[in-house]
Parts: sequence; C-alpha cells; structure tokens
Amino acid sequence: MTSGTSEIRLYNTLTKSKELFVPIDQNNVRMYVCGPTVYDYAHIGNARPAIVFDVLFRLLRHTYGDDHVTYVRNITDVDDKINARALRDFGDQISSGELTLNQAIREVTKKTEDQYRSDMRALGCLDPTVEPRATAHIEGMVDMIQQLLDKGNAYIATGEEGTEVLFDTTSMPDYGRLSRRNLDEQKAGARVAVEAHKKNPADFVLWKESSESQPGWQGSFKVDGQVTTIHGRPGWHIECSVMSEQHLGKTFDIHGGGLDLIFPHHENEIAQSRCAHGTEAMANIWMHNGFLQVEGEKMSKSLGNFYTVHELLAEEKFGGRAWPGEVLRLAMLMTHYREPIDFSLARLEEAESMLIRWKKRILDLGLEFSDAKRAEMEALGPCSKLAAELENDLNMSGVVAELHRHAGGDTLHNGERLFGSLRFLGILNFSSMAAFAVAQEEAEAPFDESRLAERLTALANRDFATADRIRDELAAEGIQLMDYKDPDSGERKTKWEVKR
Ligand SMILES: [Zn+2]
Repeated sequence: MTSGTSEIRLYNTLTKSKELFVPIDQNNVRMYVCGPTVYDYAHIGNARPAIVFDVLFRLLRHTYGDDHVTYVRNITDVDDKINARALRDFGDQISSGELTLNQAIREVTKKTEDQYRSDMRALGCLDPTVEPRATAHIEGMVDMIQQLLDKGNAYIATGEEGTEVLFDTTSMPDYGRLSRRNLDEQKAGARVAVEAHKKNPADFVLWKESSESQPGWQGSFKVDGQVTTIHGRPGWHIECSVMSEQHLGKTFDIHGGGLDLIFPHHENEIAQSRCAHGTEAMANIWMHNGFLQVEGEKMSKSLGNFYTVHELLAEEKFGGRAWPGEVLRLAMLMTHYREPIDFSLARLEEAESMLIRWKKRILDLGLEFSDAKRAEMEALGPCSKLAAELENDLNMSGVVAELHRHAGGDTLHNGERLFGSLRFLGILNFSSMAAFAVAQEEAEAPFDESRLAERLTALANRDFATADRIRDELAAEGIQLMDYKDPDSGERKTKWEVKR
C-alpha cells in the first residue's frame, strides 16, 4: 500500500518532541541505524535497537511501499576490541606468518558478522537494505577528514599515542545540541593529562596513528600545502558520517540507535557531517531506544547476568532452557522503545504464555496453515487500529491491547486480524503457525479414542443404551460420530469430526 499520506509521529531527540514524520522523498524514505562492532556474540542489549528499528522499518514499508524505504545498518569492523580479539585468537598464526594481522581481523569479523545476522533473523528482523562495512569505506573517511581540514573544522596534532587528526569542537557554534551539553560542561570531565595536544578537551579523533600491531591504512592529509601521511585508522564516529552519506545522502530522514549513543557518538556524527557538507541537518529525526537491564541490574560479565542472543536462543543458560526467537522478540516489544526494559525470566514467561494463547486462538477462530492456504495467510496484514498505534511513536501498549481485543473476538475476521498483525510485527509467520498447528494436533487428541471401540463393542452386543450414552457424551464435547461400513470387510466402523 502506498498511500503517501502518513500519520506517523515519531519522538525526535533533537527537538524533544513528537513530530509528524514527513519524508524528504516519499519514494525513498531513508533510515540509518548504528550497527554492531563485530568482535563477539551480540548480547541481548544489542538486540533491542535491531528489533525496535526493524518494527519501524516494517511500518515505513507498509506506509510507503516495500521498495521505497532504504534502511542502512553499518558493521563496525575497525575497533581496538576487534584487534585485541584477533591477537588473542590468532596470535600464534600471526607470529608464525601463517596469517597477516589483517587476515586474522577478517576471520574475527566475518565469523561475528555471520553470527549477528543469523541471530537477528532468528529474532524476526528483516535484513536491512544495506549493511556497509567500515573497512570498505576508508577512502571516503580520508576524503571527509580532508574536507574538514579544508574548512577549518579539524587540525593535526601529536599526542602521547602518536599523530592524530582531531575535530575542533569550537569551530561548530551549535556543537552539543543533540545531547544538550555545552562545551564548558564537557571541559569539567575531560582527562587532561593524555589529551594535552587537543585545543579543547571535547575535541575528538578523526584519524589516529597505528602501531605495528594495529591495523592501519595510509592517510595523507594536506594542510596549507603541506602533506602529512599518517599510517593509521579512523576514529569510530567518522565511519557513520561517511557510510550514511554514501548510502543515504548528505541529509536523510531518520537516524537511530541506543540512548547511550547520543553522546558522544551521535553528537560527533552530526558535527562531522554538517560541517563537511555545510548542511543544516544530518538527519531530520533522531530516535533512541532505552536501556536494557537483566533481572533488575545493569548487565555485566562480573555480575553473571550477561547473556548473548545466541545463549538465549540455543543454550540452556537463562532459566535453564532455550527460548524461541518469537518469545524474545515479543518480550522486547512489550515495553515502549523509549522506556528502560527489565529483561527477566518472569517477562519471558509472560510473553511466552501470551503468545501460546494467541496462537491457539488463531487456530480456534478457524485459520488454516496448510500449503494450499499459504498465499492467503501470507497476504494478511495488520488491522488499521493496530497500525495507527504503531504510527503513534510505536505505541506498543496500544498494539498489545489491540492484539488482546482480536484474541477476545469470536469471528474468523478476528483470527485473521490477530495473525495478520502478529505477522506484520515480525513475531509470527506462516511456517511458525503451521508448525504450531501440527504440534497442537499431536499434543491434543481431542478425546480418548478408546471410547469409540467401547461403543462399537456395545453396538455389537446390542447394548444400545451404552452406545447412545457414549455418542451423546462425545457430542457434548464437540465430537460428532458417523458410522459407516468398511467397503472391504463389511465391518461397522466409526468416523469422527470436531464440531464447534
Ligand atoms: Zn554510528
């Protein structure tokens, strides 16, 4: 459906208000979300932005058309943690010359990237339109840093860790607007000793020198006709400025990520992009999802409450069992995306029992998940009230209320809306429902079939009172019997069907 008249309202961190979403180009609605740093399994906190912005991606596709939304989620594959992991896991191969450092890094990032993708798919997330990698955009980063030097927004200085190109925060009059920090406040918290080479404590690294045990690229920068070449690597922020420009343009519609990225990451992305391009905005709407805790505490390895998505999906670590992706996804979506979440066993159990109730209801209301019905079932979408709740800054409590309303209804239409909505939200799909229907049939034989044999024996003995009693009891349970003669043996047999 491409109506083009969206009523989507989104909370914008930049203006601290809910705004009517008006895309720059409704034929190509553009969203960027900061993705993972690929050195280890994604933890459950990393899954929150992936799920939240996947729901928004689905809503935008529903509103503007599947082919009219571009969703970019980057992969950070340059990071000191990746480097450390490569040295830890491939140190021997590197010293023996079997692998170069860059090859070892590629091993680490490739494996982690693949795992991340399969975890996010298991959580019901669609693949983003583009998943650019930082290492594939180094040239663009060097170019943008040169533009910042040319415009007087950056400078080269040598500190304790070598020569760096730094962003001059005082060169941007409204630096700090997103996080509402002013430069004086930032000075107070700065670590002065290591950073004496900076003009201002808040200045941040665009490019930094690498040692021999660190990955590096040749970066040549020209200032006042003089070229400085630094064998180095980019700072973290510059990659998002460059990748978003390359795939979405200088100004795009929505930029998302976790609350913890507002400062410094997003603040610095804005500074780089706006100063390099001379634009008023990098993205029009900035959205941030809230924090995630586990069992009431900040997740940390030392507290023993650190869980990866993979552990939750495939191991018996949390509550002594593995959890289906659809349960994890619903558990995540039960809370509004801007609120903090407490990820607890009680929450997962609640989500699971709710989901089982809904799935049973979908079958009870008469939906069928046979192959013949696949196309029909896959055409079912959300009800308009549910879509309207999502349009209101992804109001999940309204969405859940709407799901309960359909589950409480008693028509086929309610069943279709319930399944269509859960399908739209990425929680259920045809295959998961088909598997559930089969499991239900196997788990719940509707009645004790030995009573059929008992009745046939009674009939053979001309004990019609007993035979009639059994037939009536089964009828009261919704089972209707039909007697027939076996065409081969001529024996009396009984068929049954469920009448509800
Ligand atoms: Zn970013």
